[in-house]
Amino acid sequence: MNGPDFRQILDGLGQGIAILDEKAVVLYWNPWMERASGIPESGAVGRPVVELFPSIDTPSLKRNFKSVLSFGISAYFSNRLHKHLFPFKPLPGSPEGFDRMQQNCVMGPISYGEGKRAVYVTVEDVTETAFYQRKLVELTIRDVLTTAYNRRYFDQRLLEEIERARRYAHELSLIMVDIDHFKAINDRFGHPFGDEALRALVRSCEATMRTTDILARYGGEEFCLILPETGRAEAEAFAERLRAAVEERRVSAYGKETTMTISLGVSSIRDDDDGPAVLHRADEGLYAAKASGRNRAVTVP
Ligand code: GH3
Ligand code: MG
Ligand code: MG
Repeated sequence: MNGPDFRQILDGLGQGIAILDEKAVVLYWNPWMERASGIPESGAVGRPVVELFPSIDTPSLKRNFKSVLSFGISAYFSNRLHKHLFPFKPLPGSPEGFDRMQQNCVMGPISYGEGKRAVYVTVEDVTETAFYQRKLVELTIRDVLTTAYNRRYFDQRLLEEIERARRYAHELSLIMVDIDHFKAINDRFGHPFGDEALRALVRSCEATMRTTDILARYGGEEFCLILPETGRAEAEAFAERLRAAVEERRVSAYGKETTMTISLGVSSIRDDDDGPAVLHRADEGLYAAKASGRNRAVTVP
């Protein structure tokens, strides 16, 4: 062919290109693939791609590869659905928080020689986009001050968890938490110190709860915990552990230190519940805990 050699473009491209023959043996491996995989072209060409990366040998990949070869239909492996096709490490300078490079990949048909068919694969690194997408989601569901979930997320999750518990006949409990005399802490030590007290409470909750429990900031200094698959007795034990943990914790910030206590309301779902009735009972429990002296948990069955 007279004219430019298009291979020069593939060699310089800022994304991965591999060409595989009909047995998925590598025919071409561009420099970007060398860098991302750590495998030089000389080590890749001539070897089946699934031998280089055994983890990509999945039924879905086989099916897509076959349909590209047989019908010439391109296949798209989106990051949203697949996270990545090739198990590459994130490139240097990628944002933290991913153990694998996030990818959008395309597999398409290409012919060569005398009617020979092959498959090309393109690999786009979308780790940075995935990082910002993840951040954005976190921002819409978390409270900025304490990093507990926010009220909006809580309202939605509570309905979902109640529905799930009903469907599978599982238990579910709810705990409302409110700091005792928090106004006095703010007045005495200042609002920024009060903010630190809120963070300390969240740390105590996180240290006490299970990973499947859901902690949300319900309002000012009021928090709510959803405890899936937890019955009344277990929830009461949890509430007591949390109450004791908060009472024992020293809150220190800005060179000042104090202790604080919390009141808690506990309730579990019932068969005759209408909507989030359990939330109203937990709130009643909290009110009763305040009325009967604070620094205690009250259950409304
Ligand atoms: P009680 O024992 O009855 O709960 O007394 P309390 O003083 O805690 O009363 P209440 O629950 O009504 O007080 C809420 C206080 O929480 C008032 C408000 O200034 C404070 N607060 C709400 N949100 C924040 C916040 O984000 N930071 C700080 N520092 N204080 C907050
Ligand atoms: Mg309070
Ligand atoms: Mg309050």
